[in-house]
Amino acid sequence: MTRRPRARSISATAVSVAALAALAAPAATAAPAEAASTSSAKVDHATWQRDCQAVMDQALPYLKTRIAAARPGEKQAIVFDIDNTTLETDFGFSYPQPANEPVLEAARYAQEHGVSLFFVTARPGILYWPTEYNLEHDGYDVSGLRVRGLFDLFKDVAAYKTAQRAGIENDGYTIIANIGNSPTDLSGGHAEKTFKLPDYDGQLS
Ligand SMILES: [Mg+2]
Repeated sequence: MTRRPRARSISATAVSVAALAALAAPAATAAPAEAASTSSAKVDHATWQRDCQAVMDQALPYLKTRIAAARPGEKQAIVFDIDNTTLETDFGFSYPQPANEPVLEAARYAQEHGVSLFFVTARPGILYWPTEYNLEHDGYDVSGLRVRGLFDLFKDVAAYKTAQRAGIENDGYTIIANIGNSPTDLSGGHAEKTFKLPDYDGQLS
């Protein structure tokens, strides 16, 4: 008899949402501040926040000007990455994860001025509802959330994300900004302007 015990296949499918979230956004221990300067470990939270703020200090004035210059009938949109862009994925170990505050500040301004917020993530479809809940809980008005379907999981991430932006444009939106922390969030066009948050050479998803 070579048949495997039935319990094995059952336990393999009993995957919790938390475990899937960890797979989709591999969390690593945030390095203590004192360790960050002496090793190649991830940056500490304070440094990350300062670096994010510096980028958003460029983004927010641009957004204010561009939103004020909306053409009649123009449907303005901003596209955001999620992990380590709108949420503190690699720094927050709770659920819901806290917002990345400098990004939330800009998002709030935009949504209060009629801009639709779209979230395009490499997270798999099974995480749609916990992700949408997390974003809304933190104060983001989610006009659209794009997660990867089964077949998208085998696609190049940049190509997948670019296709989502093209789709948003086809729905009649003008994407005035695309904000993310990985090069694959921003390549491929389909946005008037891109803002790159730190990923520290790929250390932050
Ligand atoms: Mg990211």
